[in-house]
Amino acid sequence: MNESDHEELRRELVSLLGEFKVLWNKSDLLPYTKDTYRIRFEDDHRYFPDFAVLPETTQEVQGIVGIAARRKIPLIPKGGGSNRTGMLVPIHGGILVDTIKMKRVVEVDKPNLCVTVQPGITLKELADCLEDYGLWLTQEQGSLKIATVGGAISTSGFSRFHQKYGVIADRVMSLEVVLADGSVLRTGPKVLYTSTGYRLHQLFIAAEGTLGIITEATLRVEPLPEARDVVLAFYDDFWGANDAAQRLMASGVVFSGAEAYEGHGMDKLGAPEDKTSLIYVIFHGTRGEVEAESAFVKKIVEGTHGVLAKHDVAMTFLDTYTEQWCGARALTGFEDVITTYVPMERMKEFYDKLWNEIAPKYGLEPLPGEKYGLDVGRYRMVGGRYWLPKGERAWERYQEAVREISVLATSFGGSIQSCHGVGIQHRENITLEYSDVALDTMRNIKKVLDPDNIMNPGKKIPSKKRVP
Ligand SMILES: Cc1cc2nc3c(=O)[nH]c(=O)nc-3n(C[C@H](O)[C@H](O)[C@H](O)COP(=O)(O)OP(=O)(O)OC[C@H]3O[C@@H](n4cnc5c(N)ncnc54)[C@H](O)[C@@H]3O)c2cc1C
Repeated sequence: MNESDHEELRRELVSLLGEFKVLWNKSDLLPYTKDTYRIRFEDDHRYFPDFAVLPETTQEVQGIVGIAARRKIPLIPKGGGSNRTGMLVPIHGGILVDTIKMKRVVEVDKPNLCVTVQPGITLKELADCLEDYGLWLTQEQGSLKIATVGGAISTSGFSRFHQKYGVIADRVMSLEVVLADGSVLRTGPKVLYTSTGYRLHQLFIAAEGTLGIITEATLRVEPLPEARDVVLAFYDDFWGANDAAQRLMASGVVFSGAEAYEGHGMDKLGAPEDKTSLIYVIFHGTRGEVEAESAFVKKIVEGTHGVLAKHDVAMTFLDTYTEQWCGARALTGFEDVITTYVPMERMKEFYDKLWNEIAPKYGLEPLPGEKYGLDVGRYRMVGGRYWLPKGERAWERYQEAVREISVLATSFGGSIQSCHGVGIQHRENITLEYSDVALDTMRNIKKVLDPDNIMNPGKKIPSKKRVP
């Protein structure tokens, strides 16, 4: 963009929003050059947006989109900035639309168990607000304190309570979206179930800002449960914890969420010295339900030679979970996490190939005691954590490793990403799991809604030519 176009655009944005909601100085734009994906490679501040804007209302978003549409300038909607695949990196410049000032709770409709909010409210802020009404959203992401409702919907965020309550994608009743031509779409009535019309709101789930800017969401909420509980148990190794996980899934017992993984620092949880792995299983419901379910799971632990943690330790573990995940460690980023889906019967083979063949080839160093993990339940996520490659061609080796892990997961009939989406990192990798017809259908949908490709261009939808 040349200087006079830049100045003209600046004047137009300022006249729409006022001076304080438009940023254009390089120093103000610096935080908008990266998300947690590029942060992992510190040297890189190469992509700047031309502007960042901070609208407060749908009308202001409409105005911004109108201005960008007339000039065919890219628009990148931003929530908490916690995505891990480069969805916010402004690779084509343009206007970054930060929703940080769009945090209003528009309506809490307790009798109909739904809430309408602006997109920039974080999941934690919404949870705190709902608690006053005796309600909860049930969307428990590790990034709860950072991730916004708009971001969670646009990435189809995973919740560790998914087994009983589903994920945010299952809770969207209706959305208000500003489309690329500046029109405002209400996707349908504020109901969870209807058989009329196409389910338009589904299009915007996991769309990564490529189809429009969500300006309001109506979500299904639940009454706060009467009781909750957790069973925490330790095992000699991951495969022992996995045995319990497999029995849990086969049993049909109701639980909110569960995870089995190889961990460290388990002595602090009271684990015997020789134990390297754990499983935890969470329950919500009436007191009677929760008691019966946890008693049932304790029997599974007994049958798989697990050692139960003390109850008070298990409850503290449950309460401090999000603190562990939201810590600075995850955001500074010398490490990465694999979040693939692999069919259960291929999980062992996947891990063998991952750690014995792929990791040494590209210099991925597994984090001590964090090689194995399984999110137990409907959306079985398989993964482990590793230090990023260092030294020569570190960035390239990282990309090549991610590609090979993706090839491995899809060759087993799995998915390359359970919950961290596509962004720029997996843009070409998703061709591994979709046919040409499926990819063309996605491109056609994008073309209908965003004919000039101004909505977060260069993300999600792969180029036409398949990478071999
Ligand atoms: C410590 C940590 C823990 C994590 N734990 C989890 C987890 O448990 N489960 C999980 O699923 N993910 C997790 N993640 C990944 C990340 O938090 C999720 O992808 C999250 O849902 C992104 O939300 P956000 O508000 O930060 O979105 P952003 O990163 O700001 O944006 C993500 C995408 O959504 C688009 N977008 C944002 N707002 C809008 C809007 N209003 N309209 C249209 N598009 C929009 C953006 O353009 C972008 O493409 C974790 C990340 C970290 C750093």
